[in-house]
Amino acid sequence: MDTQRKLEILADASRYDLSCACGTTDDDHRRRGAGGTWLYPASLPGGGTSVILKTLLSNSCVNDCRYCPLRNDQDCRRCTLGPEEIAGVFMDYARQRKAFGLFLTSAVIRSPDYTMDRMTAAAEILRGKFGYRGYIHLKIIPGSSDAAIAKALSLASAVSLNVEAPKRSAFETLSKMKDFDRDIVSPMKLISRLTAKGNRYERVKQTTQFIVGASNESDSDIVRATFGLYRRLNLNRVYFSAYQRGLGDPSLPGERNRPANPGDVLTREHRLYQADFLIRKYKWDMEDILFEADGSLSLEVDPKQRWAQRHPEFFPVRLSSASRDALLRIPGIGPITAGRIIKTRRQAHIGSLKDIGLRGKRLEKASKYSVTE
Ligand code: SF4
Repeated sequence: MDTQRKLEILADASRYDLSCACGTTDDDHRRRGAGGTWLYPASLPGGGTSVILKTLLSNSCVNDCRYCPLRNDQDCRRCTLGPEEIAGVFMDYARQRKAFGLFLTSAVIRSPDYTMDRMTAAAEILRGKFGYRGYIHLKIIPGSSDAAIAKALSLASAVSLNVEAPKRSAFETLSKMKDFDRDIVSPMKLISRLTAKGNRYERVKQTTQFIVGASNESDSDIVRATFGLYRRLNLNRVYFSAYQRGLGDPSLPGERNRPANPGDVLTREHRLYQADFLIRKYKWDMEDILFEADGSLSLEVDPKQRWAQRHPEFFPVRLSSASRDALLRIPGIGPITAGRIIKTRRQAHIGSLKDIGLRGKRLEKASKYSVTE
């Protein structure tokens, strides 16, 4: 099989791994870039956006993850790219200015360390032989040794080890071969230590991803775990990938308990991104994210509006005098609009939210929860 054909197969298989920050809406993160079939538009963990070449090194896997179409008992066309092939193909794109970064992930060939060795070999060729200094995101394979992780950190701009599930019991429904604490939690803690401020690999970002809806996890489990990943392990970004029904083992909870509306799983993924935004950007505490009785986020309204609906005593907020934090509690008002309100009211009375540029649904929402006097 030639390199281009392998790349078509392997790049296609990498599309459900969102740890490279390919956006939060369906259109964003499952779209291919205009410049080529496997170039993805991406926002980078450290800020900014780029176009990256995203591919698996191999889709041959010894593991048994029940949500994954590449698991070891599946009959699919398998292939592997050599480190030289990956480095060569990427540099062709980089020289033509079609790709500005590489996201390299892989199924597990033989063992975690063997796979990491192949991936870091590709990165070493790029950094050494080609003198490439740009963005490289390397997947950390669950179960990798400390030495293999340190080597990846010495070459990468960002790394990700996918946590997949928020707790051991949910994780155990997804894989019998991987161990949650040994293969996921311990290496993530090691990466956090090595990339902490003042440490050797401080410049390297760490991200991760949850599979949403494959197991019996609730949104509150995922949000609580996300909170811990940011606050205790200092992750740069957490991503959520809705489980694609039909790809996994038919006995998975996510296959047996199908939602009445198939689109609900993507709405659920979107709500988790909204909760994540409130945690990261608004610095909301865990108790500010409100759940339904079964632990799910509302599918009808976003988490910020849910908080407003359950706290009528807090509203209406006075636009003329409220603090920035209070303004940010108003559904429809984000950091930019809050800043505009504060700036405008220093000079003049705000007669209407239209005066500060709010329109449409956001105007309708915010007007219900605020007063101008
Ligand atoms: S390790 Fe698991 S998720 Fe990754 S390719 Fe193998 S079976 Fe799929």
